[in-house]
Amino acid sequence: MNTEASLKAFDEAQIFIPGGVNSPVRAFKSVGGTPIFITEGKGAYLTDVDGNQYVDYVQSWGPLIFGHRDEAVEKAVIDAVKHGLSFGAPTLAETELAKLVVSFFDSIDKVRFVSSGTEAVMSAIRLARGFTGRDDIVKFTGCYHGHSDSLLVEAGSGAATFGNPSSPGVPADFTKHTLLAEYNNIESVKKCFNDSKDIACVIIEPIAGNMGLVPAEKEFLHELRKLCDENKTLLIFDEVMSGFRASINGAESITGVKPDILTLGKVIGGGMPVGAFGASAEIMSQLSPEGPVYQAGTLSGNPVAMAAGFAALSKLKRNMRVMAVLEARAKRLVEGMKQEALACGITMQTEVRGSMFGFFFNESPVKNFADAAASDAKLFASFHSAMLSEGYYFACSLYETGFISTAITDEIIENTIQASGRIFKEITNG
Ligand SMILES: *Cc1c(COP(=O)(O)O)cnc(C)c1O
Repeated sequence: MNTEASLKAFDEAQIFIPGGVNSPVRAFKSVGGTPIFITEGKGAYLTDVDGNQYVDYVQSWGPLIFGHRDEAVEKAVIDAVKHGLSFGAPTLAETELAKLVVSFFDSIDKVRFVSSGTEAVMSAIRLARGFTGRDDIVKFTGCYHGHSDSLLVEAGSGAATFGNPSSPGVPADFTKHTLLAEYNNIESVKKCFNDSKDIACVIIEPIAGNMGLVPAEKEFLHELRKLCDENKTLLIFDEVMSGFRASINGAESITGVKPDILTLGKVIGGGMPVGAFGASAEIMSQLSPEGPVYQAGTLSGNPVAMAAGFAALSKLKRNMRVMAVLEARAKRLVEGMKQEALACGITMQTEVRGSMFGFFFNESPVKNFADAAASDAKLFASFHSAMLSEGYYFACSLYETGFISTAITDEIIENTIQASGRIFKEITNG
């Protein structure tokens, strides 16, 4: 496969853009490759600057549940553009999308739109702090909630609960209010509640998609809910990724556990920059201008973005059964690849939730970040680059989740499984 034009494009991009990319994971660093530059997407496929085609299992990291250039989304965007790009004043489209979003979830009465998942989570945390009058927050190692200061805290043993910043530029003073717990380990959360009586909220990806795909156990979430209630602490479900991906009605419909605040992003923008956070009317009434907690955005609720989100979500609402179809395909894909791997003596751990799939080259089940980190990164890198040259675009990090879109047919899935079989043979013979 010729990737000359992508290599050249990457060289030039690096002169003007740090690392050549506007979001680090795109640089392919963790798989040791160089990124493919994309010119076009259509349905299940991406085309790069060298004219190569790939089946896209990344879907812009989640948003494109109907694949590239879905007709309904594309038409809605073009129609909206013709009326003006932005007004900085209320539009009917905002209420329409808000009404639609709220209709999917039992846990929220009202929602506010922002322009990214990062912003949604950052604002949700401020709201939780404002509502409770407390400062500390609990997050889980391996969960990603965007790149805002107090959430950029990750590794560290479960013993040292008070977090250290995981990036230069984040003052330790900003993260000293962030306590760390271990995913799927309720004792580690109890320890946080013992260490601090000032916990405003616990934030969790109920279906974690940023350490590979690692769903929280149902029992764990129920105990987490109980702990939060006992301590009058708010529970935030960060479903920026899993919202409308793992299930149409949120993790609450899978687990029976309701959050106090819900954050959304990715799919709700249909490919445009949209994030949102929602809660009960009581909690949301704390937000400015109704209440004292400040939050704002020049392009928040942008009419073009609202139109894209509305087109995508209303299409989902009309086709509620589509999630079962996507889930069956995701299951077939990972099961098929797992069998091919096993035939070559490679053990894979796999997981599926709705249209999300994950796999680890790991002998043992993966329940938390430490388990995920014990996976075979070298094997993943070889698998990734070999699949890419066969025309299959998988996420370029073992800590990312894969996505099925409605454009990915059963036939594409079977071809992918066969390609994986060839590659596992090559890798183990080579
Ligand atoms: C992607 C993601 C975010 C951040 O969203 P951005 O739009 O990239 O800022 C936050 N939380 C979760 C769970 C995510 O997957």
